[in-house]
Amino acid sequence: MERHHRILIVGGGTAGITVAARLRQQDPAPDVAIVEPSAKHYYQPLWTLVGGGIYKPEDSEREEADLIPAGATWIRDAVSTFDPGRNRVTTTNGDVITYDWLVVAAGIQIDWDKVKGLRDAVGHHGVCSNYDIKTVPSTWRSIQAFRGGTAIFTQPSGPVKCGGGPQKIMYLAEEAFERAGVRKQSRLIFATATPRIFAVEPYATSLEKVVARKGIEPLFKHNLIEIRADRNEAVFQKLDSGDEVVLHYEMIHVTPPMGPPDFIARSPLADAEGWVDVDKFTLRHLRHPNVFGIGDASSLPTSKTGAAIRKQAPVLVANLMACMNDQVPTASYDGYTSCPVVTGYNSLIMAEFDYDKKPAETFPFDQSQERFSMFLLKKAGLPSLYWHGMLKGRV
Ligand code: FAD
Repeated sequence: MERHHRILIVGGGTAGITVAARLRQQDPAPDVAIVEPSAKHYYQPLWTLVGGGIYKPEDSEREEADLIPAGATWIRDAVSTFDPGRNRVTTTNGDVITYDWLVVAAGIQIDWDKVKGLRDAVGHHGVCSNYDIKTVPSTWRSIQAFRGGTAIFTQPSGPVKCGGGPQKIMYLAEEAFERAGVRKQSRLIFATATPRIFAVEPYATSLEKVVARKGIEPLFKHNLIEIRADRNEAVFQKLDSGDEVVLHYEMIHVTPPMGPPDFIARSPLADAEGWVDVDKFTLRHLRHPNVFGIGDASSLPTSKTGAAIRKQAPVLVANLMACMNDQVPTASYDGYTSCPVVTGYNSLIMAEFDYDKKPAETFPFDQSQERFSMFLLKKAGLPSLYWHGMLKGRV
């Protein structure tokens, strides 16, 4: 089958739905279609709190059909190839869709197989991960089952969704162990490929204090390469020397390696690393002027978050509308992103910064301090803002 749409959006996750909602608000509203294979849509930032036992997995889930903006077409399929020279994509069902304008919003790919033994191990016997709706229930199960010994929390090399994500669950677990009376007989290790706890000041200094106060042992430049589930062993490679380090665990929360989706990386839209190759200010593709990219799948050099997309989407829509009207795209994205680093069941450091790694804070107080108010915002305010504001194109 062959069909045509004025604007085609690839991916109906955070970015795809937000852009579609904003486009459909234009007067006159353009023809918009979204290619999205999944029947469910997830508010992934909630998975940190699901892993910490605060919410149930189903609290993060909505029907995709209910989120498609009125008047937009949902094509329940997945794109397999791009042919920007002919303004067309093909889908896994074998259909061809042509377009005038293309927006690529297909997210980041989780590469479970890049850690030997991980795919089979995750979800069982103390190996858990917040990074998939199928595995997130295993995190809270593992925290509850932990009776002492070693609990390891990992962060891989390369970009991940929400850079602070890997450590948030560690702080919740530490407090849960304390409450359960098992903290004294336990050792917590943060084994991360990064050189520091966080890339941006003043949040890094605050988080170093949190780690010290909680008695967590950081192991920097340690990249997880193997899980030996039968022996409860995790194998790390030291990034400086290349040496291998084997650690025994009772529980391990794994943040898996991530990268650009394969179907993008092998397409003409990709940059050298495989991301959609866009201008970092206008979000317009650098070689194909009728293509835009947004969110986790894009080459935008900022921390990949939903909060970043909230600021990217209005810029993309303004520039796309300008281009459609033969005007120069002038809206500019400054790299704003936000990482609400949960530091316990009542505290959170609300990091917000831009391309220059300068704080770009919303509130008139020092956001590098742990605050209960910011925890409440994460727990109750932001989910509501997401479902009722952002995905409706209102904020
Ligand atoms: P996604 O929302 O992942 O959507 C991509 C969509 O593309 C999916 O629906 C997928 O099915 C679809 N797709 C994939 N392949 C194809 C294809 N071939 N064809 C068509 N469609 C396709 N962000 C924050 O702002 N704050 C936080 O506190 C936070 N915490 C997080 C904690 C965790 C544990 C996780 C996992 C994420 C967190 N994030 C957080 C990150 C945030 O969820 C993502 O940055 C955001 O969802 C990215 O949006 P996206 O639209 O780029 O990708």
